[in-house]
Amino acid sequence: MERTFSMIKPEAVINKVSGKIITAIEEHGLKIIAQKMLQLSKEQACCFYAAHRDKAFFNELINNITAGPVIVQVLSGDNAVEDYRSLMGAANPASAEEGSLRKLYGISIEKNAVHGSDCAQTAEREIAFFFNQLEIMS
Ligand code: GDP
Repeated sequence: MERTFSMIKPEAVINKVSGKIITAIEEHGLKIIAQKMLQLSKEQACCFYAAHRDKAFFNELINNITAGPVIVQVLSGDNAVEDYRSLMGAANPASAEEGSLRKLYGISIEKNAVHGSDCAQTAEREIAFFFNQLEIMS
């Protein structure tokens, strides 16, 4: 079993589609083994997205991710990283696959409803950023 990290972004929580996203994750076959709601500070968001700090859209990214509460999760399954990325769809909702979470619930590339780790190594770093071992079901 592989683990991946998922974040339901503020726009999805504010638009009250977080329940639909959670249902889609479960119906897709990924198991939620940890979950909580929190609001990131700007400092925490800069740390989480440090890899993007040189990008032109960095400030906008930090403003969006701190605009309201997020739901963070650890998902488990065979090939969970790639499986969740295919459920999420492409970063831009306009070009995301039909039926994908970003197509269904994303508003724009900045407000694309969900985040998922891009590889297993990133997943472990992102999981450790938000969860301690006691909070994750084995
Ligand atoms: P992801 O792994 O599919 O989430 O995509 P990236 O790691 O490349 O980007 C992280 C996040 O930055 C994306 O989910 C978007 O919210 C945002 N983002 C990516 N590209 C752009 C862009 O060109 N403009 C803006 N404003 N935001 C972007």
